[in-house]
This record gives sequence, C-alpha cells and structure tokens, in this order.
Amino acid sequence: MYDEYDHRKLGPQMDLFHFEEEAPGMVFWRPPGLELFRALEAAVRRQLERDDFLEVRTPAFYRKSLWVQSGHWDNFRELMFEVRGNEPDEASLKPVNCPAHIRMFERARPSYRELPFRLAEFGVVHRKEPSGSLFGLFRLRQFTQDDGHIFCSADQVEAEVARFSRGLLEFYRSFGFAAVEVVFSTRPEIRAGSDEAWNQAESWLEAAASAAGLRPRLQAGGGAFYGPKLEFVLKDRQGRDWQCGTIQLDLVLPERFDLRYVGEDGGLRRPVMLHRALLGSLERFIGVLLEDSKGALPLWLAPEQVLVASVTQDQEAEARAVHARLLAAGVRSRLDVRALTLGKRLREARLRGASLVAVIGDEEVRCGEVAVAARGEKSRRVSVEALSERCLAGPFREGRCW
Ligand SMILES: [Zn+2]
Repeated sequence: MYDEYDHRKLGPQMDLFHFEEEAPGMVFWRPPGLELFRALEAAVRRQLERDDFLEVRTPAFYRKSLWVQSGHWDNFRELMFEVRGNEPDEASLKPVNCPAHIRMFERARPSYRELPFRLAEFGVVHRKEPSGSLFGLFRLRQFTQDDGHIFCSADQVEAEVARFSRGLLEFYRSFGFAAVEVVFSTRPEIRAGSDEAWNQAESWLEAAASAAGLRPRLQAGGGAFYGPKLEFVLKDRQGRDWQCGTIQLDLVLPERFDLRYVGEDGGLRRPVMLHRALLGSLERFIGVLLEDSKGALPLWLAPEQVLVASVTQDQEAEARAVHARLLAAGVRSRLDVRALTLGKRLREARLRGASLVAVIGDEEVRCGEVAVAARGEKSRRVSVEALSERCLAGPFREGRCW
C-alpha cells in the first residue's frame, strides 16, 4: 500500500508523528518529531535573522470584519473555519497571517527611514480542506507557515526580491536541493484590484526577477487573488516537483487597508507589500524531506543524531556517561542499554532513522572512546568530543566535520 519512502509510513515508524480520527488533517507530533520540527524552525529563524526580519506572534481567530476588509470573506470563505463562542459577531480561524501583520504595521507607523519593514511569524493557520483531499503532511487542515511580510517603497522591491531569492536558493542547497525552477504566476480569473494595479504589480515583479538573475517560466493565471507571485519549485531525489517557496507582490491589501508611511518630504505614501515564505508549510516540507531522504535525514536535522549502545550490560555505566556528555553538548542523543542483542538494538535504531550509532564495548571502555558508524559507513573509534563536533556541525551551526 505504501512506497518505502512514503512519509505516512516513515512518520510512525520513526516515532515522529501520527494522526487521530478525532482531528482529521492535524498532526500529533511525538517527542522526536517535535525535535525535528524545532531543528527546521531554528534553520528558518537563522535565515530570517540574516534577512533582518522581526519575529511576531498573532492571534488564531478574528472577527468577520477583518476578513471582509482583507477580501478573504468573499474569496476564501469556503476554506475558513468559522468560530462560535462568546463573540458578538461571526469570527473565523485565520487561514493566512497577512491581515494580522498589517495591524502590526499600522501600530508601528514606520517612516520611510524604517522601510523595508519586515515581519515574520511561524503562523499556525487553519484551512477547511475537504476530507477527501487530506494527505499525510502534504495536505493538512492545520499547519505552520514560515510566513513573512515586507512593507517597502516601490524602489525597494528589486533589492528585496533579489535578497529573498539568494537566501532561498542557499537555504534549499543546505538540504541537498540544488535544482530549483522558478515560476512567474500572473493574474488569475478571480482577483481583487484594478487592471492598472495588476499591470503595475506584474511589471515590477518581472523586472525584480530579472534583476535578481532569475529566468522564470511563465504560468499565466496562477497568481494569488491580490497579486502576482514567483514560485520556487524544487526537485527531490524521486524526480518529483515540490512548490515550496514563494514571494508575492501585492498592491491590493495596502489599498484595502489604506496603509501609509511618512515619506521623505513629509507626505503620506502607500507601501508595497511582499508576502514571502521559504517553505510555505513546515509540516509539508518535513514530508518532502522524509520522502526525499527515505527517512535518512541529514545529520544536522535528524531527531536522533546518535544512538549510544553498550555491547553488553557490563558497559552500561560508560554508555550512560557518554550519553550524558553528548546531551550536555547539545547533541540529540538516545541511549539503549536494554538487555537485547546489540544487532536488534541497532536494527531498531536504523528503522527509527538514527544517523549515527556509537557502540561501547570493553575495548572502547579501555581507551575512553566510542566506535561510531553512519549508514553504510565502516565503524571507527573516536573521542566523544569529536563525535559531538560532527553532530553540531552543519549548514546552520559553527563547527567542523571529520
Ligand atoms: Zn501574506
């Protein structure tokens, strides 16, 4: 029923997550799965910091009036979960974070000196996807967007698009995704805003893409209802395409919300709004990573970086000490000193997706080292410090590899 790389099989097998019938389309992250989620979140956060974003957190549901103003009530309503409570009027769980970040922009009242004004959020959003379309982590009703909005002047658009694209391509490479196709999606049939605004938005985004050295393929009609977008499509090792990152240029929401900043001459100006995400959905990207790697995640991301196992229970105390030292160094280590054969414990670790196994027998106890092996690698004896260093190295951490 499942392919060997199906993330719906790997998730429970690797003890990462599962689903329950009472909460269709919503993930139960188990402790190792949450470790993985956090490692990915930390990698995204580092990129956000590099790009000078300020991180915020905003509420989960809002009164109808906000969605009417944003246009979501008319264009997105069938995907929105309505909330009934003590509120005097209708409300809905957020399907997007944009209006919340607009409120943040309004409160901050930045002047031209503070532009580009960049906000980011790991925003948990809900969408009423039909039950037949739900599919593991790929199609959920609740998911986490690595969402960001840039409020800037028209002449800052090019630099922002270039900076985002550069960062995104580098970010994808750190996961091993080198082949990335860029798609330019233009005005859809159903849209908000005047043709004049769309002409302007499309020409600015096209110019920005070309200034950033991108050669996008045109996808007419594929834009968001408020603006055109660039989509970044990566190819996995199974040869499948995944649209993950996106940057959208929006002149409609700034108009609907009458957004203003104080220009250099003291006059009020309308900002341009860029919606951007590196991954789109953290959950979906984890699904892509699992299928791409068939569960053998890169060491820096693996929830179980090292399994520490003693050959027999005679070395249990040493194994416990090594495990404690690895944990103290910040390594995601797991200890297995159960009275099972070593072979059985190592096989279980491989099925869980452990990156490295560190075995401690009498010889290792004598020389104060551990015998470490990665998948398909011959075991070699190293110090606990060298093992820690290898685990802590990675695209988003300082450190050296062996
Ligand atoms: Zn947005």
